[in-house]
Amino acid sequence: MNKLHVATVASLLALAAATAGAVTFDATNTASNTPGGQRFDQAVGVNYAKQVLSDASTFIWNTFNQRSPADRKPVDAITLVVEDIGGVAFTSANRIHLSTQYVGNYSGDVKTEVTGVLYHETTHVWQWDGQGKANGGLIEGIADYVRLKAGYAPSHWVKPGQGDRWDQGYDVTARFLDYCDSLKPGFVALLNAKMKGGYTDDFFAQILGKTVQQLWKDYKAKYGG
Ligand SMILES: [Zn+2]
Repeated sequence: MNKLHVATVASLLALAAATAGAVTFDATNTASNTPGGQRFDQAVGVNYAKQVLSDASTFIWNTFNQRSPADRKPVDAITLVVEDIGGVAFTSANRIHLSTQYVGNYSGDVKTEVTGVLYHETTHVWQWDGQGKANGGLIEGIADYVRLKAGYAPSHWVKPGQGDRWDQGYDVTARFLDYCDSLKPGFVALLNAKMKGGYTDDFFAQILGKTVQQLWKDYKAKYGG
């Protein structure tokens, strides 16, 4: 009876957590014995990183205008693994991987840089991807758009109006999305919502009344390009 009672309470608690949209955040450093891993522990730390995952998630829900957990992707935990890999970072489902080699070799304020990288990667956890059909450049652009709006755009990014194509990705697409959002505040939230069920470039026209190619021309013209 005791066991059953415990099980019942546990499932009720789990249900309550799911209803409230509670998400748990975890971070581990599996490379504390490497120079980059040591720098992570000293300059960033797993407790700060966990807080960033939480803050970033709240920021993303607001940016995507997802007031209720029912609007969001059904994710109940996000885990950061700091490990001895190449590259910068990547996200697979709700697991974010951060490279200690990148942390170790970064010159400048590494805590701010890691914070920005985590905003980008946490966006990948929460954003819709058009059932896998969305333009890859747009996916990366939305992740950097969130990083930009959170105030973590690095100084080496392109300036507004720069770039060759709207779907070039990353900072180029982030700046373009910022322009689109200025035409109709909440544009990125509407775009992300549409990307839940599939993807077509026509979403731009459906929301803003102009094709994405026309919007890109207008954007370039605004900045004299
Ligand atoms: Zn990315």
